[in-house]
Order: sequence, then C-alpha cells, then structure tokens
Amino acid sequence: MGKEITTAHIMVTSLCDRDCKYCCNKQYDLNSIPYITEDELSRMKHIYLTGGEPFTYSNPNAIARKLKTRYANIEQVIVYSNAFELWEYLANGGQTSSIDGVTISIKSNRDISSFACCTAHRRLMNLPKNRLYVFPGYEEVECPAWIEKIPRVWQEEFVAAPNCIFRRL
Ligand code: SF4
Repeated sequence: MGKEITTAHIMVTSLCDRDCKYCCNKQYDLNSIPYITEDELSRMKHIYLTGGEPFTYSNPNAIARKLKTRYANIEQVIVYSNAFELWEYLANGGQTSSIDGVTISIKSNRDISSFACCTAHRRLMNLPKNRLYVFPGYEEVECPAWIEKIPRVWQEEFVAAPNCIFRRL
C-alpha cells in the first residue's frame, strides 16, 4: 500500500500582477483544478497556499487560521510569495500569526531589495519555516542563515510536485 499523502498545495487565487514567461498557471486549465474537500482537509498535515499572488489577492493568514481552527490535523501552513509582494504585505501591517512560514521567490531586481527589507521585519523573523527560492541570475542574493536558500529553475512544462495533492479553495 502506498504512503498516505498528507501534503496539499492549494491555489487560493489565480490573480497576479506579474506575467512570467513560464508561469505554470499558463500551462494548464485553472478551471480543471478540483476544489479541496473536507475529507481531504481532514487528512492533511502540511498545507501550502499558492497562487497567483496570495498576499496581494487573498488573506492567507485568515485562511490559515480558519483551516487550523477547523482541522486540528493541520500542523503547518506555508505561503508562497514573491519578495516584493510579501514586503508590501508586511509593510502595510499584514499579519502572520496563523502561518508557519513563507516560501519567497526572487524573480527581479525589485525582489532583491524587497527581500532585504523583509528579512529585517520582526513578523517574518518570528516564523519558523521560511525558504528562499532563487531563480537563475539571482543566485548571489544575500540570505540570512535562518532562511533556507534553494536554487530553482523555471519549469517550461508544468510538473506537479510529488507526494502531494494540488487543489483550489
Ligand atoms: S509571479 Fe508566479 S503566479 Fe505570478 S505570473 Fe509569475 S509565476 Fe505566475
């Protein structure tokens, strides 16, 4: 019997102000993504909220709070974001009390300066599970030791992350 899947990537918005060439949202029919069910949520331990840009077009902290309140099995909620949009969120007083970490992408020079601002922000420092995705050309970005730095390449063809389900909310 296969190992039980306990990780879900959940698209909380398809909206985003960027237009990346290899955006995976251009590579499949967004309407074909199934909505996550209560049964699935009751079996998940790790949730990744993705978009689109979650911090600009949704409220990931409120989503995380509702999920954790309703499903005690959910141990961790991580949010995917780009550095500039994360910084806008933090600078405008956005809360992070119900999320466990952010996976931050660097895709432009503007992201580099925004990332430096983010790393000095108390609400980001207080999160235990932060990661930095560094795309080609931005490998030299300075990253504090408390954030895990991970090289990434653009996927020219969408490949779903292994050992998880991909759903929308
Ligand atoms: S930032 Fe992400 S969601 Fe937005 S266009 Fe680029 S790859 Fe797509």
